[in-house]
Formats: sequence, structure tokens, C-alpha cells
Amino acid sequence: MANNKKWDIVIIGGGLAGLTIALHLSNNNCKVCLIEKNEYPHHKVCGEYVSNEVLPYLQSLGIDPLSVGAKKISKFEITDTKGIPVNANLPLGGFGLSRYAFDNLLYQSLKNKATIVFDTVEKVDFNEKQFTILTQRKDVYKADFVVGSFGKRSNIDSFLKRDFMKQNSSWLAVKNHFEYDFPDDTVALHNFKGGYCGLSKTETNAVNACYLTTFKSFKKYGEIENFQKQELSKNPFLEKFFNEAKPIFKKPLGAINEYH
Ligand SMILES: Cc1cc2nc3c(=O)[nH]c(=O)nc-3n(C[C@H](O)[C@H](O)[C@H](O)COP(=O)(O)OP(=O)(O)OC[C@H]3O[C@@H](n4cnc5c(N)ncnc54)[C@H](O)[C@@H]3O)c2cc1C
Repeated sequence: MANNKKWDIVIIGGGLAGLTIALHLSNNNCKVCLIEKNEYPHHKVCGEYVSNEVLPYLQSLGIDPLSVGAKKISKFEITDTKGIPVNANLPLGGFGLSRYAFDNLLYQSLKNKATIVFDTVEKVDFNEKQFTILTQRKDVYKADFVVGSFGKRSNIDSFLKRDFMKQNSSWLAVKNHFEYDFPDDTVALHNFKGGYCGLSKTETNAVNACYLTTFKSFKKYGEIENFQKQELSKNPFLEKFFNEAKPIFKKPLGAINEYH
């Protein structure tokens, strides 16, 4: 069904950027339509540790991560590939919150303030001072402004013929949630050859383990289990973690990234 409504702003993509922009603009009386391809809540590959740097801004939007159980984090541990640790306090600190909960918290706050559509944007055209947005369901949206907050390697990047889409990404990210005895107030980064793995607790008490690695390192092992056992576990902290921690998702989530 064609949608001929006209919006002040259409936002493409409802991740952290799109949701916060939509909240900010809706709170300032703009007529906003946000188009996101996946319904909330949904899990996402992410380290799920957020610096407190963003708290004042979130508060200005009426968002409090602690209200949904985010863990307060004030300590940092980093180990080198051999597992030699350095520990420090984090003066500014941060919080541990899954993207499942974080994106959903923003969505719940936005849903009565803006129009939210679950669909995939396929095309964006601009002429006569107006944007026209076409979705997979063949709906058409018109707007004065469009915000492209569709993350990395979206179909929109292909539509825009962005050069980086011609090349394969050289990075792979993997995450799972685990049952594991881990302090609430700590974020850890454990290095291994070709990447690093972050550990921190989320609102459910699950430990999020998310690692980023080069395809070059990964492809020698071919599959995630082997890679974790044979490469990540050369770091004794990660060896202990992957031996003892009980995975919560049946399958880890993976993503191909352009991460700089
Ligand atoms: C492995 C990894 C770990 C990270 N860990 C951390 C961390 O611990 N702490 C931290 O602060 N940051 C972390 N980041 C960075 C953080 O994830 C990003 O900064 C953040 O997700 C960017 O938000 P975004 O809204 O721009 O993109 P995204 O969160 O990727 O959102 C983009 C949205 O657009 C939607 N979309 C895409 N195409 C379309 C389309 N055509 N139509 C409709 N919807 C569309 C997608 O479904 C998605 O919901 C990490 C990143 C990676 C890759």
C-alpha cells in the first residue's frame, strides 16, 4: 500500500544512532518517521559496554539505562596475548547493557512520539527539494530531510554504490552471552593473535563475550569452536572463560565488519 504522507524527517535505520536522533527530533516537535528492518527487541553483535560519556545526552532524551538493570562498570582489565594483565580504575566509568535491552529501551520511549515502520528501505531519490524513499514493501515516503543511520554494509551502501562495498571486509565479529562468574563492575579486554575479546556483564547477569578478529586469522581454523579453542585460548584468561562459561544462545551471532 502506497504511503503518501509527507514527513519533516525520515530516518533510515533504528540502531543507536537512528533511535536517538528520532527521539531528539521528536522531542523538538519534528514530524519523524523511522524505518527499521528488524522488529524490537533483537540481539546484535556488540561489546555492550557503553562509556558514561553518553549519559548526560541520554538523560536529556529521558533515557536511563540503569532503569532496565544496566550494570555500573568502573574497573578495567586488559591482558596481552600471553595473558599478562594490567588492571585500572575507569574514572569516568560506563555501563553494561545488551543491545537487546538498549535499543528496545530507546524504541519503547520513541514509539508514541514518532511513526515507526518495520520495513527495508531500498531506494532514496532527491528532486524538487524533496526526498522520496521507497521500501521493500513498495511503500513510498516523502520528506524534507533524510537521515541515513543504517550502520555499515547495508543494502543502501550498495544502492549508493559506495566503493567499500566492492571489497570483502577483512574483519569478523562474534558474540554470545554466557553464564559465568564475573564481576558486575568490570570490563575486560583480552588480546589474542589477530584480535581481542571483550567481556562484561549485562542487565540479565549474562556475560557478553564479543570478539573482533581478522578473517586472515580466522580462516586457518574454519569454524568458531576451533578458533576459540585453538587460538583465543592461547590467552589463559580466554582459555578459562571458554572452558567454564556456559553459552546462552544456541549459536553465536556473527557479523562482517568494517571496524576502524
Ligand atoms: C564488534 C563490535 C563491537 C562493538 N562494541 C561496542 C561497545 O562495546 N561499545 C560501544 O559503545 N560501541 C561498540 N561498537 C560500536 C557500536 O556497535 C556502533 O557504534 C553502533 O551500533 C552504531 O550505531 P548505528 O545506529 O550507527 O548502527 P547500527 O546499530 O548498526 O544500526 C543500523 C540499523 O539500520 C538498520 N538498517 C540497515 N539497513 C536498513 C535498511 N535498508 N532499511 C531499514 N533499516 C536498515 C539495521 O537493521 C540496524 O538496526 C561495536 C561495534 C562492533 C562492530
